[in-house]
Amino acid sequence: MIHLGTQYYRPPFPNERYWEDDLRQMADAGLNTLQLWVVWAWVEAQPDVFRFDDYDRLVELADKHGLEVLLSTIAAIHPYWIHRVVPGSEMVDNFGHKVVSSNRGEVHFGLTPGGCFDHPGVWERMQQFLTATASHYREAGNLYGWDAWNELRWNVQADGLVCYCDHTVARFRDWLDAKHGGLTGLNEAWQRRYTSWEDVLPGKVPDRPYTEMMAFQDFIAWRSVQHAYDRYAAIKAVDGDRPVTVHGAQPTVLHGSDSYPTATALHRGNDWGFSERIDGVGTSSFPKWGGLEMDRAQFINRIDFSASARQGKRLWLSELQGGRSNIGFSVAQSVDAASQQSWVWTGISAGADAVLFWCWRDEVFGRESTGFGLAGNDGLAEERLTAMRRTGEVLRTHGEFLRAYEPEAAQVGVLFSPQAYYLYWAQEGTARVPLAAIQGYTRALVRQNIPYRIVEEGHLDALEGLKLLIVPRAVVMDEPVAEALADFVRNGGVLFCESETGSFSEAGLYRYPEDRFLSRVTGVREVGRRRLSSESISVTLAGSTYVLPAAQWLTPMVEAGGDEAHAALLKRVALGDGRVVFCGTYLGDAYMEAGPRRGQAFEAFLLALATRAGVERPATVVSVTPGDGDFVHVKVGSAPVGAQGERPLAFVFTPSPETNVVLAFRQGTFGERVVDLLSGDELPVREVEGQQRISLGPTAWGVAVLAGS
Ligand SMILES: [Zn+2]
Repeated sequence: MIHLGTQYYRPPFPNERYWEDDLRQMADAGLNTLQLWVVWAWVEAQPDVFRFDDYDRLVELADKHGLEVLLSTIAAIHPYWIHRVVPGSEMVDNFGHKVVSSNRGEVHFGLTPGGCFDHPGVWERMQQFLTATASHYREAGNLYGWDAWNELRWNVQADGLVCYCDHTVARFRDWLDAKHGGLTGLNEAWQRRYTSWEDVLPGKVPDRPYTEMMAFQDFIAWRSVQHAYDRYAAIKAVDGDRPVTVHGAQPTVLHGSDSYPTATALHRGNDWGFSERIDGVGTSSFPKWGGLEMDRAQFINRIDFSASARQGKRLWLSELQGGRSNIGFSVAQSVDAASQQSWVWTGISAGADAVLFWCWRDEVFGRESTGFGLAGNDGLAEERLTAMRRTGEVLRTHGEFLRAYEPEAAQVGVLFSPQAYYLYWAQEGTARVPLAAIQGYTRALVRQNIPYRIVEEGHLDALEGLKLLIVPRAVVMDEPVAEALADFVRNGGVLFCESETGSFSEAGLYRYPEDRFLSRVTGVREVGRRRLSSESISVTLAGSTYVLPAAQWLTPMVEAGGDEAHAALLKRVALGDGRVVFCGTYLGDAYMEAGPRRGQAFEAFLLALATRAGVERPATVVSVTPGDGDFVHVKVGSAPVGAQGERPLAFVFTPSPETNVVLAFRQGTFGERVVDLLSGDELPVREVEGQQRISLGPTAWGVAVLAGS
């Protein structure tokens, strides 16, 4: 089944008098799962005394109303006694100041950030809480699973970069030692002359040498992944069969926006690291947060970013906006049912098997008070719950089928380089620019209905089956990655690289153009940075000319022995059975800046690039009315049925419920008819020009789920 549920209890709210009625209404609204925040400080207010009476009552009530329970262990909210019982366990910031913890902005009782989990005494206490909780609920018949780490929070309200305590710095040195095989290895990699590990310091602030700042960020990301494993292992040791996941406040790719002085890039870890061992990854999503609103492409990208990292494991929409997100004394836009249902079904279309709302009732505490309730007071609760009932019914009827569904594998990849994020952050205090580069390409791909996946540089198995790999702003690239990309090309792939790919090593040291790996294997090199005199460049691909938005600088290219007079901004070169296309500027983030009208040429260019690489789109839009320039998103996949059969499935997302659209699918996608699982309508499939056409619309929410027979 697909779990459709809601977060309910963040102790001690909502008050017990609401519980029975609320849970009855949840079940009535088609939900099947209840999530509870099990807060360490609340449960173990007194050392070694664990109180679960309120949770016991809720788990029992959930059972009565046919709801399964998901427990979210909030081990980041430390008991007030932590520093008393574990002396010297405070985090230390980058200026050497002991961090003063305080009550969390959105949690009523407990300390944040609390003690440093690199202190063995803190971890021992935290583990004891996780073990006690898992032991207490292991026998609960309606327990579905665990979310072991909510939004990967460990350093919020530290009010500076952390952690620089003795335990963490010692661990940093151990990590370097293991990575480089001793101090000599480190000296070789960093080109330094250390004589003692004590002299090896973590990076302190941006705009100092890149080397140790990049290394420290990489370490902090790794350390978060290890901490997730530790939490996972603690629960799994007690409750081995149920799923245990962790979830980010956002997908890892989007953590490029983390900025000095609050946090380094990827400080909360890496989804690809989590899914190596943990049962699933997830993300929170608040598409109508405060006064900001994500557009449709942004939301679809967000879910795709998480889905790309799951490596065959579960994908959870661990927190999805329930109702209006008022922050402080504000009135944000209400959450309409159609938008909300399109978020839910976007998740399912990407392979999610759990969608959990934040939250059921409006919050009562702090800056989140009056906000977020699925059943809250933003004026639209009734339409939301009516729609949810319909989705609940569809999930009850077709749950097994939808659970078995997998989206079709993408043929286009977009490289995500954490190392490039670290380098940008080391210089600028944020990795927003390389993030915007990835966002630009993925937005254009979604708008053109070209399925893609993010390929993380440490997990290059994901290159398998790709025809085109886009490499946006990967300014850091060392030999193993470059070697794998070159092999991808030699085996027939097309690699599209932006300016200065691999111009720095992981040690943060600059490489001359001719020393970069891809230059060495292709003979094409950049002549150096030249100033960008206009905001666009003109390039020719397959006989067509495109005027494309460009950013930052130009690095024209020449072939071996060529002189600058013959340098070009787009250079295609064969390598083995494939080719490398070098682009001497930055297009992705420039497209994001340029906006939809100036960006059209970029989308056309990208489509031509993909088509030339042999990429086939599973579905294309023949016509859309009204055609206001917005896009129709289609996700195609299938679910296994019987011994070897497959049942095709296509999720269609239109700009609005009123939209009418004609779609063309590849020959053989469907039989003679499809049924829209949401409306129950049967739709004919017409064979036109070697494709299968389906007309649909208007729809209830701008969503259709087309299942073949
Ligand atoms: Zn520490």
